[in-house]
Amino acid sequence: MNERFDPLTASEDTLGLDTLLVHGGTVRSGFGETSEAVFLNSGFVYDSAEAAEARFKGEVDGFVYSRYANPTVAMFEKRMALIEGADAARATASGMAAVTAALLCQLKAGDHVVASRALFGSCLYVVEDLLPRYGVSCTLVDGTDLDQWAMAVRPETKVFFLETPTNPTLDVLDIAAIAAIAHDAGARLVVDNVFATPLGQRPLKLGADVVVYSATKHIDGQGRCLGGVILSSEDFIANELKDFYRHTGPSLSPFNAWVMLKGLETLALRVERHCASAVRIAAFLADQPGIRKVIHPGRPDHPQVDVAIRQMANGGPMVAFEVEDGKAGAFRFANALNIVKISNNLGDARSLVTHPATTTHQRLTPEARAALGIGDGMLRLSVGLEHPRDLENDLARAAAAV
Ligand SMILES: *Cc1c(COP(=O)(O)O)cnc(C)c1O
Repeated sequence: MNERFDPLTASEDTLGLDTLLVHGGTVRSGFGETSEAVFLNSGFVYDSAEAAEARFKGEVDGFVYSRYANPTVAMFEKRMALIEGADAARATASGMAAVTAALLCQLKAGDHVVASRALFGSCLYVVEDLLPRYGVSCTLVDGTDLDQWAMAVRPETKVFFLETPTNPTLDVLDIAAIAAIAHDAGARLVVDNVFATPLGQRPLKLGADVVVYSATKHIDGQGRCLGGVILSSEDFIANELKDFYRHTGPSLSPFNAWVMLKGLETLALRVERHCASAVRIAAFLADQPGIRKVIHPGRPDHPQVDVAIRQMANGGPMVAFEVEDGKAGAFRFANALNIVKISNNLGDARSLVTHPATTTHQRLTPEARAALGIGDGMLRLSVGLEHPRDLENDLARAAAAV
């Protein structure tokens, strides 16, 4: 029989990921549009007062207000849930809205969080500065050291939080082992999966309870929109996140959701190219003069290469490296680049280079940066979609300038 493909219930058991990335979650209006429609509306109308009452009571399914849910945003959420293998997802206006909502929705005064010290700068602000203001204490650990996670646990520990690979040092943290420690402690593990991308790593399958993304990065992939997404079980989304999300308003704009849907259609192709070029660029950089060290989870000399092989499908799209002569050398390198642009963003079609010590991690003391392994000569490269030979030529010119 010729069974009709249902984009709302399809899964990776029956369809390839590339197919889900193109079709998953699509709901067509009566016009039969090919590409998803942008429902750029804030509210919805009802046929009768009784219909409005029933929808507000939850007796009848349907949209009530775009802060709660919106048809275009719902398509993006559904597609993300299908590719991540999650029960449910909620999209947010930025990656930081996703991180903040995923943490705050489940925490209250008196709770305790254990987090890896190597976090995206704004995530560090949330756990180190913001949560304590509301009576949630936090212990920061070296995420690669499993004993530190176990030793940080207290009776009131509710959440473990990490990102892997880490920004910008690309340490790889063992998600399955850390999830087991969290669960033994009765805590949930929240994983920020931006640096791995949905194609490179599946934290939920490894035991994580909640996954968050900045969709601003590879999901959009072309430097256009901010966005984020929280993925988890039906139980978490309905019982922990739903009310917080509805009433605090971190929701994603329908227009941005539409841009993200377009991004997902090409995500597999783009990430494959990003990652293949990253392997090639990492090897190339390692042979250049003026480069002291190259870090990429796909390299055999990566300190956690065994964990990377176990939990990642590829080495990821990011490369970090250390040049000679500290900040001066790193600035000479960055300023000599032509094709690679200087930007703190990542996950763009354009290759982007960042000097973490003076930008994303400038807020930290030199001691804190040193503890994280962020030297003054470190540069972070988000490998783009340009021809890898052109990138190599650009990087070779920069290395010669160091
Ligand atoms: C960019 C990023 C964020 C924040 O996302 P925004 O969309 O910029 O708010 C969080 N975590 C990681 C790892 C990121 O790279």
